[in-house]
Amino acid sequence: MATVKRDYYEVLGVERNASGDELKKAYRRLAMEFHPDRNQGDKAAEDRFKEVGEAYSVLSDPQKRQRYDSFGHAGDSMPDFGGFSFDSAFDLFDMFFGGGGGGGRRRGGPQPGADLRMNVDITFEESVFGAGRTIEVPRKGMCAECSGSGAAPGSQAVQCPDCGGTGQVRRAVQSIFGQMVNVSACPRCHGEGRTVAQPCPTCHGQGRVDERQTLDITIPAGVDEDVTLRYGGQGEAGPRGGTRGDLYVGFRIAPHPHLVRRGQDLLYELPVSVPQAVLGDRITVPTVSSEHQIELPPGTQHGRVVKIAGMGVPHVRSGRRGDQLCIVHVAVPTHLNAGQRHLYEQLGEREGKPAEVKKGFFDSIRGAFR
Ligand SMILES: [Zn+2]
Ligand SMILES: [Zn+2]
Repeated sequence: MATVKRDYYEVLGVERNASGDELKKAYRRLAMEFHPDRNQGDKAAEDRFKEVGEAYSVLSDPQKRQRYDSFGHAGDSMPDFGGFSFDSAFDLFDMFFGGGGGGGRRRGGPQPGADLRMNVDITFEESVFGAGRTIEVPRKGMCAECSGSGAAPGSQAVQCPDCGGTGQVRRAVQSIFGQMVNVSACPRCHGEGRTVAQPCPTCHGQGRVDERQTLDITIPAGVDEDVTLRYGGQGEAGPRGGTRGDLYVGFRIAPHPHLVRRGQDLLYELPVSVPQAVLGDRITVPTVSSEHQIELPPGTQHGRVVKIAGMGVPHVRSGRRGDQLCIVHVAVPTHLNAGQRHLYEQLGEREGKPAEVKKGFFDSIRGAFR
């Protein structure tokens, strides 16, 4: 039976004066809805997928659209219209969604497995010094029972009789312009080229089962939350012998109770009392590995930065360590007992007005946050 082609505007469900953006939107929605990967074996959806692709390929091209508006489908038979096959529909889809947008669709042969992404929780110290860790990856693994073939033990996956192992079927269809050949993914083997007569009872013919794989990983010293490690071939197994995807590991770093990371440096707010700031003191401060004694000179100003060289975070590649920057915070007392109050009053009487703020005060603070 000859099929009459539907109007392209009707196919996309848009008005005849639809803008390029409206066409795009309509195509995006419909192509996703009818993509064969989402409608395994559904012949009607396959046809709709191709129809939508064809309509969009014509209407999104101003010249072709103009010709279609003037001549309708009769314009199709003009020289550079070309035949629009299932392959064209897939190519258009891949182009529209940017290559792998369809989830790495391939025609012929088993589909590859999906990539996985995991976030691993680590301590602040582990992010600075690195560590080894054993993680558990929940994923689809190859079915051991059938070695991933999907065929029951004793039976074998055989070449698909419908497509002869190519994963594609070519169908001659009659249209009002004569005979056309459609190439589409073989509905029997879903484009894999092989079929399983007796499905493996363990994996129901899928060739893969849920597994929890343990994996030893190395947390690199100096790692930050924007670092992602790639473990090739540690993602999900593909169905029926498809290659494994990759595993991507990122890190969630627990905050430190006293230290904040800024690039390769660690910032520490150093609380100092007024007498300590005035008279100077030897103060023990926490570092990422232990403690460190610093010498606070007499007359230390609020906001001054005391550097502990080489006690920061190593660069993840070069290994060069940053510094720990201790930013002096002079804690002015808010509650005084009578004795303290008396002492401050005496001080006030003798000292009078404060000295002028030292030049470079703002520079010193800015330096701490570079
Ligand atoms: Zn087939
Ligand atoms: Zn199996």
